[in-house]
Amino acid sequence: MRVELLCTGDELVTGLITDTNSTYLESRLFDLGIKVERVVLVGDVRPDITQALKDAASRADVVVVSGGLGPTADDFTLECAAEAAGVPLEEDAQVLGWLRERYAARGLPLNPSALRMIRVPRGAQPVRNPEGSAPLVLMQLGKAQLFFLPGVPREFRALLEGEVFPRIRAVLEARPGRTYRAFRLLRTVGMPESELDLAVAPVAPRHPRVVFGFRTHAPENHLKLMAEAASQSEADAALAAAEAECRQVLGTRTFGADADEYAAVLLELLRQAGATLSVAESCTGGLIAQQLTAIPGSSSVFIGGAVVYSEKMKAAWVGVPEQVLEQHTAVSRETATAMADGVRAACDTTYGLSVTGYAGPGGGTPEDPVGTVYCALSAPGVPTRCERISVTGDRDRVRLFAASHTLEMLRQHLLAATPIP
Ligand code: ATP
Ligand code: MG
Repeated sequence: MRVELLCTGDELVTGLITDTNSTYLESRLFDLGIKVERVVLVGDVRPDITQALKDAASRADVVVVSGGLGPTADDFTLECAAEAAGVPLEEDAQVLGWLRERYAARGLPLNPSALRMIRVPRGAQPVRNPEGSAPLVLMQLGKAQLFFLPGVPREFRALLEGEVFPRIRAVLEARPGRTYRAFRLLRTVGMPESELDLAVAPVAPRHPRVVFGFRTHAPENHLKLMAEAASQSEADAALAAAEAECRQVLGTRTFGADADEYAAVLLELLRQAGATLSVAESCTGGLIAQQLTAIPGSSSVFIGGAVVYSEKMKAAWVGVPEQVLEQHTAVSRETATAMADGVRAACDTTYGLSVTGYAGPGGGTPEDPVGTVYCALSAPGVPTRCERISVTGDRDRVRLFAASHTLEMLRQHLLAATPIP
């Protein structure tokens, strides 16, 4: 099946916004075994959109069109579709009903601009949009099936998932000799991409029906496994075998699968251990606390954090002795250790984490140049552990990896304390 995508909007061709609708569609279609053949971006120019629709319809079986369905003067994709098909635009009573309901529910009058959205090309089929006003519109142009979707990413995704993919899937399933697929994304941390590749290299040849793919999503590296077979059960079995072997060689570096989020996984481990956590951050400036609190329900285990950016606050809030700061500086093993112990005591938590380092671009010393970070973990019953890491790259990258390494010290500690069966 040939699928093309056409995204419209001046903002896409003037550097104002990045076209994320395409990447979303591409990755979801790839899961169905479809590689999008072509993506075209067109500004808000009527003849250009009309021509692009005709061109795409002449090549593809399915064309997904994004944007220009709204009420404003720069929304005219359906006008272009009507022009391309040689049919008039007609007011649709059903769409009018949906719009009336939606506007009434929000206490808004239906103004003439909004009424632009009730006009669809003759013969096209509108489908209600659960997330917005402009409907999804289905239309045949030549031999191609066209799907017109609003550009707003939230609406675009909802309509793709709810209406477009089921239709594409049904067509694929009706085809004889179809291929069945099964997927698993294994998420690793603390492992460079080259190491990940090396680790699974001996596994891949033993699983010829599974495609191994790698993706870096700093600070994580992901291994994508895709099994293909003549039936779903064979695909599932092939995937399960490859996944088990990969998990074996990757060990605790794999923190989760598919949509698992690192912080959520760590918080769950803490919850299972009945433990609480506090954090003292210097060079990461609250990044660790931000990552943890982004997860709903984190308050049951994450008790608090201190951004102790200056020496003054390292002493005042987490009790780093002045003489430690004087003798060893704020970026040192001794300071990091004192910070972890200090925040754990101040917050009365099971664990205390700390991080201090030179994020750059300025600063650093000959012994501890820019990119040097000290991370420490204060835990009950064991001496406080501090690790020194050297991160290459710019300020953002140093901070990202500093946060990740600090959290990873705790995750590894928790896994060692309660080995997984
Ligand atoms: P609206 O009713 O909001 O006008 P629409 O269907 O007319 O919806 P557009 O006007 O083209 O869609 O886009 C609405 C907003 O959605 C844009 O301002 C932009 O922020 C976002 N958007 C549009 N196209 C894309 C895209 N391809 N990728 C990411 N965001 C997009
Ligand atoms: Mg618009």
